[in-house]
Amino acid sequence: MTQRACCPYCGERVSDKAVRLWDGRRYCRSCIKSVSPELYEFARNGGQLVDVVKASDVRSLLYLINFGKLLLVFTFLFCFLFWGLLTLIGVGKEEDPISPWTLFAFFGGGGLILVLLKSLILKIIKHFHLPRILKFKKGELIVRYGKKQKRFPLEKCKWYVGTTTLCDLICLYTGLRQGIVFQTPDGFFSCGHSPETLKHWYAFLRLMRMPRLPVPRSVFYIPYGSLGMVVGTLVGFGLGHIVAMMTGQERWIPGCLLLGAFEGGLIASMYVYYSHYACQNAYQRFQPAIWGLLFFIMGATTGFIGGNPAALFTGSLNGMIGAVVAWYLLAQRSELSSEEKEKELRQGELKEVLGHEH
Ligand SMILES: [Zn+2]
Repeated sequence: MTQRACCPYCGERVSDKAVRLWDGRRYCRSCIKSVSPELYEFARNGGQLVDVVKASDVRSLLYLINFGKLLLVFTFLFCFLFWGLLTLIGVGKEEDPISPWTLFAFFGGGGLILVLLKSLILKIIKHFHLPRILKFKKGELIVRYGKKQKRFPLEKCKWYVGTTTLCDLICLYTGLRQGIVFQTPDGFFSCGHSPETLKHWYAFLRLMRMPRLPVPRSVFYIPYGSLGMVVGTLVGFGLGHIVAMMTGQERWIPGCLLLGAFEGGLIASMYVYYSHYACQNAYQRFQPAIWGLLFFIMGATTGFIGGNPAALFTGSLNGMIGAVVAWYLLAQRSELSSEEKEKELRQGELKEVLGHEH
């Protein structure tokens, strides 16, 4: 070798004492030590930076619980919303109406049986895809599933520390919740199934200066949004029965149900938007008055079931709910939004994930 390369960390020419690391580049010994003495020891002793999901990490029970939960939530929403729509437009009025609970019991129960069957044959399936291996090799991040392999140039990868579930579906089988997540051109891959190397991954990523991301807010919308919709559906369904009893108009039941589902999802999304999952400067865009107006319109539309005065009443009540919720979330948010708090939160997160000081 005639020309010495530069150390990717300090940018200086590397000396003879430099160490070649897993990305194929050479780093000064002092640079590695300054980022993490443990990483230096690990590399010097020939440690390999590899994250492995073994076949034994995938458990049938976890599969059953995690996928069963998702299935029940989505089947519930599908059955209730479908029932609500059909009932609202008056389909199937003459016949004996089916309750949404019957639909849910039928489809949810059937789906659960399928998930149970699949969890039983999972033992066979997983041998085709596992072990899954995550590692660096010569300037690339390599993801290997059984015999298939994907390669991503390091400059196209980013990473963050935090929630792994729903980013990488394999976590639903293995139960991994927190770790390091790589964003690649082909989606997210979570790392943390070999917890003993996690702190070395973390140190190495900082050493190689791979760009770091905040935890993407998008990963929170689906779980929070669907939970909000389930709660909203139940509340709306219950309230609808009460209003229907008071007014004698059956259409309030599907009307309130749909309104509740929609607003439940919206409020949960608002929570994600305004809470500490949000980016620093995102929170000024929607003022409580705008939320109030939006909720007024939605409430009034539903309220037409009972005529004009009912529309005005339902709209005003609903508008107030929207404005108060938005105001409350915004107040929480401003308390939390100082930069120090954000930093504190991140540091806590890191400690939780990596279980050591850094
Ligand atoms: Zn250096």
